[in-house]
Amino acid sequence: MSESPSKPRGVEPSSALDAVIVGAGFSGLYMLHRLRGLGLSARIYEAGSGVGGTWFWNRYPGARCDVESLEYSYSFSEELEREWQWTERYASQPEILRYLNHVAERFDLKRDIRFETRVTCAIFDETASRWTVQTDRGERVSAQFCIMATGCLSAAKIPDFKGRDTFQGKTYHTGHWPHEGVDFSGQRVGVIGTGSSAIQSVPNIARQASHVFVFQRTPNFSVPAHNGPLAPEVTRDWKMHRAEYRQRARTAAFGLLLDQNEKPALEAPPEERQSAYEERWRRGGFAMLGTFADIIVNKEANDTAAEFVRTKIRGIVRDPSVAEKLLPRDYPIATKRLCVDTGYYATFNRDNVTLIDARTTPIQEITPTGLRTSEAEYTLDSIVFATGFDAMTGALSNIDIRGRAGVALKQKWSEGPRTYLGLMITGFPNLFTITGPGSPSVLANMVMAIEQHVDWIADCLAYLRQHDVASIEATVDAENAWVAHVNEVANTTLFPLANSWYVGANIPGKPRVFMPYIGGLGVYRQKCDEIAANGYEGFALHSCAVAS
Ligand code: FAD
Ligand code: NAP
Repeated sequence: MSESPSKPRGVEPSSALDAVIVGAGFSGLYMLHRLRGLGLSARIYEAGSGVGGTWFWNRYPGARCDVESLEYSYSFSEELEREWQWTERYASQPEILRYLNHVAERFDLKRDIRFETRVTCAIFDETASRWTVQTDRGERVSAQFCIMATGCLSAAKIPDFKGRDTFQGKTYHTGHWPHEGVDFSGQRVGVIGTGSSAIQSVPNIARQASHVFVFQRTPNFSVPAHNGPLAPEVTRDWKMHRAEYRQRARTAAFGLLLDQNEKPALEAPPEERQSAYEERWRRGGFAMLGTFADIIVNKEANDTAAEFVRTKIRGIVRDPSVAEKLLPRDYPIATKRLCVDTGYYATFNRDNVTLIDARTTPIQEITPTGLRTSEAEYTLDSIVFATGFDAMTGALSNIDIRGRAGVALKQKWSEGPRTYLGLMITGFPNLFTITGPGSPSVLANMVMAIEQHVDWIADCLAYLRQHDVASIEATVDAENAWVAHVNEVANTTLFPLANSWYVGANIPGKPRVFMPYIGGLGVYRQKCDEIAANGYEGFALHSCAVAS
């Protein structure tokens, strides 16, 4: 039975656990399940009133996964996979949320989740080798391990526009969408941003609103989803071959069954290139990324893919001046997160949709009645902030995390995040970060990346128990070498060229560091496994001395 989310609990007597997990999305739920299996006592603290993480919060119209449902789901339980039926190629937010609730019920997870409880502070006690975790409800708990399952894209960000609080209409952030939904009928709606969230929501908002003004600072590359009902034969085939498909995804670079062509784009004659791109465009989704081997490492090769998509945009959007504004030109394709859409570009053919170039005519102010750019004033009933997240580090920075000698994580990361494998941080023993910066995380099908991290952490804790180890900590040398490696690999690609959230460019003042690991999930998994097999190379293990 889950705990009542609405009942204020006040200050509870302090209690001791083996592990505290922060967050009840895909990461936290599976982590709790694995720890239970090891016989450890664990509790999740979750700020939301239900499970689901991303899929609890992001309820904007059109929200759905862009990794195919069959792949964007847990693989750890064959029974779970056999009993759950996805209805669409890309599941909608409500369906994914139903799935995660089903998982939580099926594995009886909710009884160990404290909902509507935000972790505010986590402090390491060097003498006891334990973490003291505090919440906004005044709870205080001691745990040997603290596992951050706080999400890479969970700290929603609304830019500090002048006059933001003066607007008299309604405002929404896509990542904090009202549970009861929003009816935009008859309204003039401003949408700020053109990332994945806007690209999914704008076509839906435009079908309802009287007029939509889309404020675009940077045009994005988007490819068609070709979503639709999942054909029974596709599901049948998946269930028959699931073990093989899952194994392939786990060892693939992006954690996806991408059908990667190993040929470089520039070795293919122009007609062959064109038909290869056409074929991937017809397939839809991330298939485009696998068209040729060198798209993300060779600018000239990348240009061929980028120009293909630009030609498609010109072909879809009827007004050439609008099409021209929608063409992404100042960064290589896929170096900002590739978007997957259903009718995004065609939406600009509607009479009730206006695209505003917020690069040449920047937003200057939000006013009581709407929004003013350097060129015009727009009267609006509602404003949708599709302005993204303080990605990868935001949710961690929002918690006061203090390691050895009281050093704050924020202070340690003031020049950018530093981790060993994206799993642990020197100076912060017994603290794990699921999909932390320095791991493949957001550059992979995240469910595969999450399962790999959770399994590694669970196996690590089992090892520590077996060997009577009280604390584990990344060594300085291992962390330095890993950070250097993450940067080195990133610099062999085109990714650092883009002003993306991967490098923190969307948050004013955030240090410019390429945060995820682009070496590929398969390669990364192998490294993590080798490190564990070698007795946790690069980690300092201390046996029980003063521990509880
Ligand atoms: P989250 O789902 O973000 O969960 C983290 C949880 O931690 C949240 O519920 C949050 O409330 C809680 N939390 C954070 N801080 C605290 C605190 N201090 N105290 C208490 N609780 C806290 N990835 C893909 O691979 N494919 C996709 O198609 C895809 N689609 C996406 C669509 C959207 C709209 C977004 C925003 C992201 C998408 N992602 C996708 C990335 C997605 O975030 C991951 O796939 C996955 O859901 C992350 O799970 P998680 O459990 O690690 O984090
Ligand atoms: P995002 O990709 O960061 O996009 C934010 C948008 O807001 C950008 O267009 C950005 O412009 C704009 N913006 C930010 N600050 C602005 C300002 N001050 N003035 C004008 N414009 C501003 O955020 P998101 O769309 O929420 O997506 C975040 C990530 O979540 C995605 O990349 C993806 O990983 C995941 N996601 C996935 C899906 C899916 O399809 N399954 C859906 C949604 C989200 P600039 O580009 O110029 O900064």
